[in-house]
Amino acid sequence: MPAQEIVNPIGVELDETGRRMRIRWDDGHLGEWNWQSLRRACPCALCAGEGNLPGVVTLETYFNPQQTTVERVKWIGRYALAPIWADGHDTGLFTYLKLRAMCECDEHAAASSADR
Ligand SMILES: [Zn+2]
Ligand SMILES: [Zn+2]
Repeated sequence: MPAQEIVNPIGVELDETGRRMRIRWDDGHLGEWNWQSLRRACPCALCAGEGNLPGVVTLETYFNPQQTTVERVKWIGRYALAPIWADGHDTGLFTYLKLRAMCECDEHAAASSADR
């Protein structure tokens, strides 16, 4: 794996109207994620599976509005955050690297669709 630059969040913003989360990183980048995409990508053992156990979340999973509403964000050490969802789910830890990799800002969304 190529060495990855360490970036840290300066601030997080929850956009209830657009249902998006934004993070300003200390390299100046403004990252953006749709709440629904975040919930679908939840990396916890229940949603994503663990070992031989498949997760409950698939591409077809239907989420209700509570399950795709971020109430607030819990910081985990200096490497990850966990969205606290309106249905009480809060065990999905998104590392900063994962968030950067799945960034949905205009710049990154354009770059990843050009790859396909
Ligand atoms: Zn989960
Ligand atoms: Zn981005």
